[in-house]
Amino acid sequence: MTKRPRVFSGARPTGRQHLGNYLGAIKNYVALQADHDCVYCIVDLHAMTTLEDLHLLRAHTAEMALDWLAAGIRPADSIMFVQSHVPQHAELHTILSMFTPLGKLTDLPHFKDKVRLQPHNVNYGLVGYPVLMTADIVLYKTNLVPVGIDQESHIEFCREVVRTFNHRTGASVLVEPQMKNTEYPKVLGTDGQRKMSKSENNQIELALTAAETVNVVRSMVTDPARVRRTDPGNPDVCNVFALHKTFSTPAAVQEVGTGCRSAAIGCVECKLKLAENMNSGLAELRERRAAFAARPDDVWDILRDGAQRARALAAKTMDEVRAAIGLP
Ligand code: ADP
Repeated sequence: MTKRPRVFSGARPTGRQHLGNYLGAIKNYVALQADHDCVYCIVDLHAMTTLEDLHLLRAHTAEMALDWLAAGIRPADSIMFVQSHVPQHAELHTILSMFTPLGKLTDLPHFKDKVRLQPHNVNYGLVGYPVLMTADIVLYKTNLVPVGIDQESHIEFCREVVRTFNHRTGASVLVEPQMKNTEYPKVLGTDGQRKMSKSENNQIELALTAAETVNVVRSMVTDPARVRRTDPGNPDVCNVFALHKTFSTPAAVQEVGTGCRSAAIGCVECKLKLAENMNSGLAELRERRAAFAARPDDVWDILRDGAQRARALAAKTMDEVRAAIGLP
């Protein structure tokens, strides 16, 4: 059998996942399983760089694992685990930090943003974040990293570290990964303006009940120029319409599009249709989620088993890394 390309992706444990996470990342994780060897990691150590309330880490990890499993990550085929359960991530981070000029790290846009956002907590981990991310990726000899476009500079950084390491040690032990963009780089939130995000409080969570979904969708901001029910609207500037394209049939998209432009349907009707289609589109996922949620110990067992398989791969890479460096 030919070797399938290795995929790695990590996401910080942010608790219940929203449609932005799902369309922008998780859906892609699920699809990639068809023809790749996938390693998916809940990066709890990374979360510590920004999370103030550390005792949330465990609950957030469990909620995120539930959403991943519900969405269709298959633990029998893919490795799904928690970063801190595999100590080689921290070990390789330390080693790779010696191959990284400090100025490069402090110049990265992500670091500068974080300094601006949390001036009271510019911790050392924030500077080293891209080095730890590099360790995460290269431990598994990753070929492809499905991430958002905002991570492009980190993947480029990772590739540079790999080249430096391989050049200085004279051994081609580490693999340069490629970035894989997602089909949905930016899902907007309920405000129709900003990227859907928990911190913006504009999210639509996957795990909502059908009734909660109706309420949240009803609160969505539509075309701001459509003030009265009789005003024609512009679907191209409306996030409700954008989500119809994901959850409704092409015929229904066409119908609400023309209905909006001609004021034949109002925003409320359009939103109720969206909520209904969203609820049917997510029904299976929600059923699977409820089934896993009823067996929380099994979810931790899945994560522990994933960590064991990840440790075996990581240990092999670390042996090669130590030999390449010549560590005694
Ligand atoms: P992280 O810091 O781990 O990237 P996020 O919760 O910001 O945590 O994102 C997790 C994944 O979901 C990332 O791949 C990110 O690009 C994707 N994502 C998050 N929000 C959105 C959004 N609104 N639109 C598209 N993708 C998103």
